[in-house]
Amino acid sequence: MEVKVCILGSGPAGLTAALYAARGNLAPLVIAGAQPGGQLITTTMVENYPGFPDGIMGPELMDIWKKHAERFGARYLTATATRVDLARRPFTIETDEGPVRCRALIIATGASPNLLGLPSEQQHMGRGVSTCATCDGYFFKDQEVAVVGGGDSAMEEALYLSKLCTKVTVIHRRDKLRASKIMAERAQTNPRIAFQWNSAVEEILGKEDHGVRGVRLRRTDTGEQTELKVDGLFIAIGHSPNTGLFRRQLDMDAVGYLRVSEGTMTNVPGVFAAGDVVDHVYRQAVTAAGMGCMAAMDAERWLERRGE
Ligand code: NAP
Repeated sequence: MEVKVCILGSGPAGLTAALYAARGNLAPLVIAGAQPGGQLITTTMVENYPGFPDGIMGPELMDIWKKHAERFGARYLTATATRVDLARRPFTIETDEGPVRCRALIIATGASPNLLGLPSEQQHMGRGVSTCATCDGYFFKDQEVAVVGGGDSAMEEALYLSKLCTKVTVIHRRDKLRASKIMAERAQTNPRIAFQWNSAVEEILGKEDHGVRGVRLRRTDTGEQTELKVDGLFIAIGHSPNTGLFRRQLDMDAVGYLRVSEGTMTNVPGVFAAGDVVDHVYRQAVTAAGMGCMAAMDAERWLERRGE
């Protein structure tokens, strides 16, 4: 398949780029990726997207955005890109549904949750260890769980789990939260949420087939080790950009976030990037959407300048 504009990713940045490129008459193709709808799909209530004073559920918001882009002619391919060739145009994107060639590419592949890197974490992943409370929280109804992390994501996960679980313990490596004031306050005044300060998870305990029975913690200040009995562990320690596909083809920083200049252009002319794959500072749906809009406009102008 050959298209003018291809968009990799279907979160806020990708779908907003699709809407603008579609309205620019570029009939963009969105390759939805491994998690269609992006990170908001794993969220419950989005309370800070402007225009929704009563909040809106993340999956519902993404569904509306997809319909909005499709209304103006964006096409949606439920596929995952497996390889890209950005050395010559048209650029080639290999996907599990066949190759796609495009004249301009917008990368909006977002970011994925970070993990602790413990062998026991891999062993229990999906069977007592999770990175998504809204996906897996229900499995721990009326049980005790812990959440690792001290940012907004950890508070959001803990608050969500507090509605299902009898007790939620937030395990944080310092004695001060990174989360915003409002989120921290909500979590700290919730009677079902407890805090285990200055603590790091050393090991997740339990036999593979019998689920998690607890975690072994190490005090980061004294080194003392303790055990905490929990039935599930949710990891909410930030994200890393999904840029493995572009290694050695696009400029990125030491962590792997794509570098852009002149708006949203990467170092390869005709390849633009938007949202969490670029931005490690703001990382909000509204900022990702704004960048998606910029990338579509940049791509449109770039093609126009070349008479395409
Ligand atoms: P974050 O702000 O980077 O926080 C990550 C947390 O995990 C920090 O507390 C960090 O500890 C801890 N951490 C990192 N690596 C760790 C490790 N290896 N072991 C133990 N702990 C570790 O990430 P986030 O919470 O995902 O939030 C990302 C962005 O999304 C932020 O801008 C946030 O405001 C936004 N967000 C907003 C909302 C909302 O408004 N409702 C919800 C979710 C996310 P330290 O504090 O010690 O570094």
